[in-house]
Amino acid sequence: MTPTFPTELFIDGTFVPGEGEAERVLNPATGELLVALPEASAEQVHKAVSAAHRAFDAWSETTPMERSRLLLKLADAIEAHAEGFARLESLNCGKPYARALGDEIPAVADCYRYFAGAARCMGGPLAGEYLAGHTSMIRRDAVGVVGSIAPWNYPLMMAAWKTAPALAAGNTVVIKPSEQTPLSTLLLARLAADIFPKGVLNVITGRGASVGQPLVEHPKVAMVSITGDVSTGRKVLQAASGTLKRTHLELGGKAPVVVFDDADLAAVVEGLRTFGYYNAGQDCTAACRIYAGGKIYDKLVADLSSAVKSIKMGTPDEEDVEIGPLISDRQRHRVASFVERAQMAGHMEITAGGKARNGGEFGAGFFYEPTVVAGARQEDEIVKREVFGPVVSVTRFTDTEQAITWANDSDYGLASSVWTQDVGRAMRVAKKLRYGCTWINTHFMLVNEMPHGGLKSSGYGKDMSMYALEDYTVPRHVMVKL
Ligand code: NAD
Repeated sequence: MTPTFPTELFIDGTFVPGEGEAERVLNPATGELLVALPEASAEQVHKAVSAAHRAFDAWSETTPMERSRLLLKLADAIEAHAEGFARLESLNCGKPYARALGDEIPAVADCYRYFAGAARCMGGPLAGEYLAGHTSMIRRDAVGVVGSIAPWNYPLMMAAWKTAPALAAGNTVVIKPSEQTPLSTLLLARLAADIFPKGVLNVITGRGASVGQPLVEHPKVAMVSITGDVSTGRKVLQAASGTLKRTHLELGGKAPVVVFDDADLAAVVEGLRTFGYYNAGQDCTAACRIYAGGKIYDKLVADLSSAVKSIKMGTPDEEDVEIGPLISDRQRHRVASFVERAQMAGHMEITAGGKARNGGEFGAGFFYEPTVVAGARQEDEIVKREVFGPVVSVTRFTDTEQAITWANDSDYGLASSVWTQDVGRAMRVAKKLRYGCTWINTHFMLVNEMPHGGLKSSGYGKDMSMYALEDYTVPRHVMVKL
């Protein structure tokens, strides 16, 4: 039976077919077409923004309690449809179904629940007489219409990270999922339709240039939030400059993992096997750039390579499958070309994986083997550039200073980790690392109470936590002359 997919845009409380060019939405595990989805026309982008703009006054005047109640309802509805969401994410992204169901959907529901509570608990400076005869107080008000643009690696989770704090703070939203992975966000709209007043949340689909850019440029959009590539972030900043919008940028990453000689090797290997390859490495925090101390290096490369060879790659419903395919054939070519260039450099060795997988059990899906590139040097492309695939490089360092310098020698600044049994050293190194997050003896773990976001070319603005709620509000000073 061919499954039916949600295909309609959600504008002003109504479901409407897109009127623009059709985008082919594929199943990356088979290469087959799932559905051809007409994108939003320019007129529909305008209608969605206008609807959000009309809905803003009433929505921003609801109390935190009222908004909280609706966000909790949405969280419950997501849980009630967990299997449907996990099915769409696995069909459209190639994710192992059990992982989508067990890891992602609960985190998505929890994100809405966290912001439902956080909206009622915002803090700030005390009202008082900071100038004699005058009382000052701080308000934190909604920004207005937020245009949100999401990537393809965690479609529903990125939609939650963007819409939950924005709605909790009293903004209205027009969200555009990635043209490659629109299905779960369209299902989210179906649930939201029964919960939120019309126009509060709108979902439009389509490509970056034809739908994303007009959304960013629209004069009635007050803030733009984007998760995507660094080059896309630059384009969005340029497009937003015309109307001087607030921007919130979550861009790429190239996470350094500093492993000292005294680290618990088994824990490091187990951690890298998981955190370097989860979601087929298509993760901006993936543990992909390993720096290993001179004494632990050889054993780490050997043990990691054999552990990585045991990762079970396959289609979403295969038993015990750990990683799926890459999102597209284009992405697979990109990943393969990084590994080919590393191989051609001569001094690096591919100690696990290193090949695209086609045919046989892998059919026409976009699979690429989990790969370890050993002997990488700091100046190598594989160390410097984001691969966004199941590829981890290992580089030997000689002392702590060198490890810190190399770890920080990156355009990116999103996530990092330090592995050692010496707490003092872990803390000293964590302090020096110029990354939005540093984990110690782990990697990749996120919680809705803590912020996620980058420095340098990884962008600015925080997802999750009270900091996200602050990002989606404006502090205002009200002063009364007594
Ligand atoms: P992408 O930049 O190609 O696309 C992201 C989104 O931007 C898509 O919805 C796309 O349609 C839209 N877009 C593209 N051009 C645009 C334009 N000119 N104007 C407006 N919108 C435009 O990214 P992707 O390939 O979907 O995702 C992978 C990238 O996302 C990686 O670089 C990854 O590191 C990054 N990422 C970052 C985080 C984070 O939290 N920092 C999280 C996930 C992914």
